[in-house]
Amino acid sequence: MDFTISDKTKTILGMIDEFVDNELIPMEPEFMAKPARSLLPAIEEKRKMVKQMELWAPNHPKEYGGMGLDLIEHALVSEALGRSPLGHFVFGCQAPDAGNIEILHQFGTDEQKDRYLPPLVDGKIRSCFSMTEVELPGSNPVMMDTTAVKDGDDYVINGQKWYTSSADGAAFAIVMAVTNPGAGPYLQASMIIVPTDAPGFNLVRNIPVMGHAGEDYFSHGEILYQNCRVPQKNLLGEEGHGFVIAQERLGPGRIHHCMRWIGICNRAFDLMAARARDRIIAPNRKLAAKQIIQSWIAECAADIQAARLMVLHAAWMIETIGKKEARNEISLIKFVVANTMQKVIDRALQVHGGLGMTDDTVLAFFYRHERAARIYDGADEVHKVSVAKRILKGYEGKKVR
Ligand SMILES: Cc1cc2nc3c(=O)[nH]c(=O)nc-3n(C[C@H](O)[C@H](O)[C@H](O)COP(=O)(O)OP(=O)(O)OC[C@H]3O[C@@H](n4cnc5c(N)ncnc54)[C@H](O)[C@@H]3O)c2cc1C
Repeated sequence: MDFTISDKTKTILGMIDEFVDNELIPMEPEFMAKPARSLLPAIEEKRKMVKQMELWAPNHPKEYGGMGLDLIEHALVSEALGRSPLGHFVFGCQAPDAGNIEILHQFGTDEQKDRYLPPLVDGKIRSCFSMTEVELPGSNPVMMDTTAVKDGDDYVINGQKWYTSSADGAAFAIVMAVTNPGAGPYLQASMIIVPTDAPGFNLVRNIPVMGHAGEDYFSHGEILYQNCRVPQKNLLGEEGHGFVIAQERLGPGRIHHCMRWIGICNRAFDLMAARARDRIIAPNRKLAAKQIIQSWIAECAADIQAARLMVLHAAWMIETIGKKEARNEISLIKFVVANTMQKVIDRALQVHGGLGMTDDTVLAFFYRHERAARIYDGADEVHKVSVAKRILKGYEGKKVR
């Protein structure tokens, strides 16, 4: 494995670090204190600067105005952007749009691509992904109540979804609904593009998450599809292939998520080390002189490095031998990095004492919002169970001395 960074990537990462430090981190206090919509004009200004620097949409295809970086290059970019909660959004590579752009690019008809991709990549519109249901387990999404029934030239969709992230203000949702109830469990559902102004698309509420409902991009919607009617040409890919397409989103998306979490670890670690260095806890005595704090700093440094190398290794596996063969690595990083991040944020917050609980640093924001990392994109336990099953299968009939 060779993770040497090219000169081009080094330059890009240097520019991003500087931008995050000088333009985004100073915006964070306002971002944490004010309703998100009030900040959109300021965010738009930053997005214009990013476009002028030619750093917009780093992971998206060049033909649609992105930078066309490869998986490992974008992994490093995602790490750099992860240092600020505003990073990915300001650079045009935020979830869930990033995943939706990928599948539209791969599975969309020419008409769908022409209509949705240019404005989506350009950041003129946003999208959301609507799969998880209120009453059924997201961990086993083949159990799905939402249906899309053909009527004339249309699909009529009925169902109740929640945690449709960023639905508020989105132009369209990619909705997972049962179209083929008689087929096998993994071939029953389809992905359908549903404009949010379609009749019967109802955003019921932005769900309060850890005390904060948020708004616009920074929110998670509950959606009621009530006889929601869209043309059948809005089907994405083949009918009944919703889960096949969902699988395609997984590998690269996981790398981007995990490297964003490593970026959060780096930021929390920097804050922890700087606080330990500066905080006087007795005359002529700094917190950093305490061995327990030194031990936390050493442990966190080792944990972050181990997690980071695991993600880069998984990305390297995807690029060299393919997503299917890298299944275990893709599952392992999900729960390792999510838990590393949680530990590092928690330690950093503890080192800050009462200050850590306030919104005067970004740590409490990360503490609240990133707890979800152990739940979305497959709960940790689901990944552990499936990876353990595959590992144990390899031991069937194997002689071990
Ligand atoms: C912040 C956030 C954003 C999200 N964004 C989106 C989005 O944009 N679009 C979307 O469709 N969904 C989204 N989700 C939903 C997410 O995908 C689901 O919450 C997740 O899949 C878990 O499903 P569930 O909440 O129904 O939990 P359940 O499936 O009810 O599981 C509950 C718990 O049971 C345990 N468990 C489940 N299965 C097993 C198993 N096989 N073995 C052992 N233990 C198990 C786990 O501990 C799990 O946390 C988001 C969720 C959050 C929190």
